[in-house]
Amino acid sequence: MSTFNPSIAPARLNAFPIFAKVEGRVVVIVGDGDEALAKTRLMAQSSAELRVISAAPEAELADWAEANGVAIVRQAYEPALLTDAALVFAATGELDRDAAVVADARSLKIAVNAVDRPELCDFFTPALVNRAPVAVAIGTEGAGPVLAQMIRARIDQMLSPQLGVLAQLAASYRDAVEKLLPKGVARRRFWKEFFTGETARNVDAGDLSSARRTASRLLRERGAVPGHVALVGAGPGAEDLLTLRAHRLLMEADVIVHDALVPEAVIAMGRRDAERIAAGKRKGCHSKTQSEINALLVELGHAGKRVVRLKSGDPLVFGRAGEEMAALRDAGISYEVVPGVTAAFAAAADFELPLTLRGVSSSMVFTTGHDLKGATLPDWARLAIDGATVAVYMGRSIAAEVAERLIAAGLSPDTAVAVVENASLKSKRLFHGTLADLPSLQERTDLTGPVMTIIGDAVAGANFDRSTALYRALAFQEEISR
Ligand code: SAH
Repeated sequence: MSTFNPSIAPARLNAFPIFAKVEGRVVVIVGDGDEALAKTRLMAQSSAELRVISAAPEAELADWAEANGVAIVRQAYEPALLTDAALVFAATGELDRDAAVVADARSLKIAVNAVDRPELCDFFTPALVNRAPVAVAIGTEGAGPVLAQMIRARIDQMLSPQLGVLAQLAASYRDAVEKLLPKGVARRRFWKEFFTGETARNVDAGDLSSARRTASRLLRERGAVPGHVALVGAGPGAEDLLTLRAHRLLMEADVIVHDALVPEAVIAMGRRDAERIAAGKRKGCHSKTQSEINALLVELGHAGKRVVRLKSGDPLVFGRAGEEMAALRDAGISYEVVPGVTAAFAAAADFELPLTLRGVSSSMVFTTGHDLKGATLPDWARLAIDGATVAVYMGRSIAAEVAERLIAAGLSPDTAVAVVENASLKSKRLFHGTLADLPSLQERTDLTGPVMTIIGDAVAGANFDRSTALYRALAFQEEISR
């Protein structure tokens, strides 16, 4: 009876990952076609001196080598060509030729890889995330090349494209840190702040001289951490409409201060031990006033926290970010803004609705409609009459007033209107109608999610296959509630 029990026995690696030093060394690739090209490309990411051996290279290999300054030794393979190599690749695509190269390499005690012939390999090449000098190598011992590529793509997304530059900068600070900061907490604190704080942000922004300045200041202040607030757009609701930058900041945050409209799935992307603070606000249930939120952000910043202030959609669109930025500026706390997909864009996407349409509409208005109350018409109403596409935020409870005022001002009652509840979410609902139908939106008690209204002639270009009539839906609703 077998005693093997995969749920208990920890699996052991049959191929153990190590990093081979190739700087200034020769790496030999033997082959003429695709296999040789793939390995040449892979190894060209290193500083090794590449030696491709091919008497008759295929055009693609020859062209690539030419374009990338890799020399091809145009002669028949012979073992003497391997003698000074650090690594050898047998990449001929033919079993007997590969086997001969493997045998020669082994007799010279050089590690060899035969492409797609694991039984002949001394080592395997990984799927690689390259941020030189940082490298993440992924191996599956051949069990799942597709799996390795999937993991590679995920890790690639997680890491800043500038990580290599940051690591190089870190290397230049290593001696000074060792001299000036005692081993242990102080050094760890310095590096944590270096890799995630202002220095990292400056490197990400491509501003190396500021990065050096902040790193040096951090060293002078012996790793004391200044707070930082990121005003981050969480997008309209679907968690995969979050930007990669928002995702990265969420994973680094000590504290996440979020609005009510931000879905739990997005908040959950933060570190498990991050503090989460709900700041309100949905219509009718303000859990914190705006000035309380401003004060909270300032307090967290002063406490040296890395804060993500998470707002639905884009933080600069009806997000009261202006007041929060002013408070942070006054308090001398550093902050940044990360854009997000605003509700109007998500609603338009759900409706396949062109917000600008050649010959019909070439401008767009973001409004709340709440400024339609006064005696004079706001500027945007005139734009609407001139053909702009109008996106109305927070417009459900004043739908009738918006419609009446626009019609009175001269916009045709037949102007097309699209309404989306819960844009981007599975629970989304789409309605279409005209400006004359819009008042019925206000009466619809069945709409409990956030609602986006888009008005204008460009709406006529939307796809109405999945939407129902705004007005008829109301008549039906009355019928069934009777
Ligand atoms: N900063 C946000 C807007 C906040 S104001 C953004 O850029 O999207 C809140 C209003 O946004 C809601 O009343 C509603 O009109 C709209 N909204 C937000 N999320 C929405 C969604 N998923 N579907 C439809 N409308 C949405």
